Amino acid sequence: MNFNNRHRLRRAVQVVLALLPVALLACGTAGADTYELVISHGLVMDPESGLDAVRNVGISGGTIRAISADSLTGKQNIEARGLVVAPGFIDLHEHGQEPRNYQFQAHDGVTTSLELELGTDDVDKWYAAREGKSLINFGVSAGHIPMRIRVMTGQEVPSLSAMNTPVAEAANHRELTAEELSKLRAAVERGLEQGALAEGMGINYTSGASHWEILEMFRVATKYHAPLQVHLRYASLLEPQSATAALEEVIAAAAITGAQLHVAHITSMGLEYTPRLIEMIAGARQRGIDVTTECYPYTAASTNLNSAVFDEGWQEKYHITYRDLQWAETGERLTPETFARYRKQGGLVVIHEIPEAAVRAAVADPSIMIASDGLPITGPKIHPRGQGSFSRVLGHYVREEKTLDLMTALRKMSLLPAQLLEVRAPAFKNKGRIRVGADADVTVFDPTRVIDKATFEEPLQYSEGIEFVLVNGVPVVKDGHLVERVYPGRAARAPVSQ
Ligand SMILES: [Zn+2]
Repeated sequence: MNFNNRHRLRRAVQVVLALLPVALLACGTAGADTYELVISHGLVMDPESGLDAVRNVGISGGTIRAISADSLTGKQNIEARGLVVAPGFIDLHEHGQEPRNYQFQAHDGVTTSLELELGTDDVDKWYAAREGKSLINFGVSAGHIPMRIRVMTGQEVPSLSAMNTPVAEAANHRELTAEELSKLRAAVERGLEQGALAEGMGINYTSGASHWEILEMFRVATKYHAPLQVHLRYASLLEPQSATAALEEVIAAAAITGAQLHVAHITSMGLEYTPRLIEMIAGARQRGIDVTTECYPYTAASTNLNSAVFDEGWQEKYHITYRDLQWAETGERLTPETFARYRKQGGLVVIHEIPEAAVRAAVADPSIMIASDGLPITGPKIHPRGQGSFSRVLGHYVREEKTLDLMTALRKMSLLPAQLLEVRAPAFKNKGRIRVGADADVTVFDPTRVIDKATFEEPLQYSEGIEFVLVNGVPVVKDGHLVERVYPGRAARAPVSQ
């Protein structure tokens, strides 16, 4: 179809959609209209309105058009008796932005997958690479790490592993010159003008970044009303380079600049002191500072072995030793010899370091979002979090452990992430909700069966009990199985201002 035809078709669709409410009024009775798709008899749970009742949901044109106790007629029908109908989950933190990751995420109930922490150094290129080819919605931040490396070395950082090459690592450990800082500021601004959803930072990985540089980066984000997703400077339990000090740094930066701060994966930063960090964030919020956080529901972290995270002294900092490290390519536990060899070689490692009590504290907290921190699938033994985080909260922590109630869990994985982004990107006002007019991103699951199947031993397994997933009204999971060759995912992007 050429552009003009497509444009005309889109206009026609818009006219029809605009007339739809009039048509509904004219019909008078619910059910007289035919929707493209109806989800019947499901328990609709909407964390914004508090609706928690059996309803029928009518969907047309990628939008929720009706929510009714009366029966609705659809060209397609999904029978959801006994199932929960929830807003599709929004994952703020997924590094694996590839088709295979999207399939695992869809099976886990995720309809919008965002890479906000590492981000990208080329926002236009990043979105263009996924447009029209994605199973679920996708979005990215302007990435401090890749932009900083590019300004300092000219090297592109197209993937997570590229940020830890010897050249990049030398840059990560070095302070910027004044000229580099102004180039970096301009690069981040350009990314935000191209519609990046947020500014991403991983200060732990850029240990050469001065406190002043961090403040400057917060100022840029504030100018564009962009939230910052920040991996703290330290995860250590030891003073003076402790996670406590690192959290103070960014809360102070938010207080000074007025930035909207979102702290990445609080449990892998706080370790056994996670409750202290949660308390610090709550205190800052009470004093009017805009700070939020997130967690994934696992007792292990994961990152590149050849990163600054494993600089001298890591055993004391995190209270762990070699055998707590598991090489993602093979699943083997490390020794001093293999540690030295693999650190030189580079690659992902799983770090068994987070106490269960820390996970529980974060999962139970109604204000802490669920985000997977999933990783590109580089080997058979990668961390399971990208494949199972959301089902694990619903199955293990809600149903089995009763750590939190179902509505609170849904709020943490849909409404709260949407609200985090909606000032910067108004499109998110129509996500994270089951409401007339909202995008038809919907996850339908069996609350008695939903569970993660991805484990540290067998991480590449789909979650179970997620029965139907709609992305912009199009089923991508049906009866628990992936739908082949559909690409309804759209760019989740802030308005482009360049
Ligand atoms: Zn991180």
